[in-house]
Amino acid sequence: MKRFGILSVTEALLRTRCSQISLRSISERGLGRFVAAYSTSDAADKLHICVVGSGPAGFYTVDRLLKRYGDKVHVSLLDRLPTPFGLVRSGVAPDHQDTKNVINQFSQVASDPRVSFLGNVTVGQDVQLRELRQLHHAVVLSYGAESDRRLGIPGEEGPGVLSAREFVWWYNGHPDARGLNLDLSKVRSVAICGIGNVALDCCRALLAPPTRFQPTDMAAHALGQLLGAGAGPREVHLVARRGPVQAACTPKELKELLSECGVEAGTAAPDQLAVSEADAAEMKATRLKRRVHELVSKAVADSLKRQQQGGAGERRLWFQFYRNPVEVLRGPDGGVTGLRVERTAVRPGPEGGPAVAVGTGEYDTLPCQLVLKSIGYKSLPLQGVAFDSRRGVVPNVEGRVLQAVPEASSTAAPPPVDPGLYVVGWLKRGPTGIVGTNLVDAEETAASLGADTEQLKKAAEVTHGSAGPAGLAGLRSLLSERGVRVVNWGHWRRLDEHEVAVGQAAGRVREKVTDVGEMLRVCGLAAE
Ligand code: NAP
Repeated sequence: MKRFGILSVTEALLRTRCSQISLRSISERGLGRFVAAYSTSDAADKLHICVVGSGPAGFYTVDRLLKRYGDKVHVSLLDRLPTPFGLVRSGVAPDHQDTKNVINQFSQVASDPRVSFLGNVTVGQDVQLRELRQLHHAVVLSYGAESDRRLGIPGEEGPGVLSAREFVWWYNGHPDARGLNLDLSKVRSVAICGIGNVALDCCRALLAPPTRFQPTDMAAHALGQLLGAGAGPREVHLVARRGPVQAACTPKELKELLSECGVEAGTAAPDQLAVSEADAAEMKATRLKRRVHELVSKAVADSLKRQQQGGAGERRLWFQFYRNPVEVLRGPDGGVTGLRVERTAVRPGPEGGPAVAVGTGEYDTLPCQLVLKSIGYKSLPLQGVAFDSRRGVVPNVEGRVLQAVPEASSTAAPPPVDPGLYVVGWLKRGPTGIVGTNLVDAEETAASLGADTEQLKKAAEVTHGSAGPAGLAGLRSLLSERGVRVVNWGHWRRLDEHEVAVGQAAGRVREKVTDVGEMLRVCGLAAE
């Protein structure tokens, strides 16, 4: 083997890395880069960046930073869970395995010697943001949206009402949702508020034949309930406060639900598919809107025909367009018995904005035993970082975090930037877009960071002198002092291989471990 300057490699870091990857498993070129990544000679020259959150936005950002800085960077990639990939693991529907293939690309990024994954590390608990900032030239926040918008209606709190996020986490095996007290065997009818793509994901999980999910990585506890003999919902009401032309879902996902899942479709009233002049103009201008209307109309007509011929299926999907949820109804035992909705009419939005739903004063009750609120995710604030609670985002300009939320209609100058702090993904722009949307977003944030490099280095020199911040080595020693059981990439690979092996033995893609303690045990990090 050709010799590289092994003796110049920082010993502590080399030991750390060797526990993550086998030296024999990397090529000579890889070894060269590995050595360069840890060579003390250029350590001071290197930019130390910490990315908080290893979902798609975090991974795309790391990828962009590696491309931008070459060997002159090291990235500490943190996640509060022992598992990487964020929404790709716990948000993307189990029957959308193709979408999850991006994990292969992310895994290559994480295996790069310039990147260190640190799972099972919670910022604000195991380590403070100010400490991460002291240890790195820059911190990029990419911890996504782990909360939900609220309906703000009576009955919303309590058993039988979940956010779509909680339900999705439950069937995707997110550790925080494994204890959800959900018994689908007692549920015949579900009302889903909202008609975006997440609502459709939930609808497929509830109404499609459970065999659709058997070979996937759906969590065993969820699959077991859906497969339970005679159990499971037979009816879903998709409650949309506006009409089919304004529906937030996309045609591809709607077609999948209507044509692949064996559901019978109906509308709450025959006139729900009527097209107003404004609708016609929108449909003319936007093919996707026309397509959504066509798909719903065809599915409803086809179902009606099957019903007339006596061949209709038993799982029903009711489109409840022009219906706004106003109250969750509960029985004497506190269980959900229905969702009260107000009929609406759609009117032009103010100042030429999107059409809005206005109440008509007429009400209906949709009988159901479970209500899912699929009206959008929401990010959570982090101590020490400005947060726009109305929009649920960290205020920023092109990914540079601002020190305060700009005033809405002020001509005053925007608040100053918080130097060295960046944001990306749903935390930056709100909960919209698909996995790939984060690529463009990450490019923007990485470009901002790139443009600030010299200032970041100068600021670090003032604080730390020419040696620069301690980066990964400092972070590791801090976490080790605090007894944090850090999951590195090697540990995750062990858990990954375990899940895949157990899953494949049962003819499934993987069998997810859903308990953090069990994850750490499989990783070889069980508490002593
Ligand atoms: P979304 O697309 O923004 O849809 C939210 C829905 O909630 C809309 O129907 C909205 O109605 C409704 N809503 C919001 N506030 C409401 C309120 N107070 N009362 C009643 N209804 C309310 O959000 P999402 O479904 O959570 O999806 C998030 C993002 O992930 C989207 O960009 C989506 O496309 C993406 N995604 C993609 C896929 C995929 O590609 N397969 C899968 C899942 C998610 P209005 O339109 O009337 O406001």
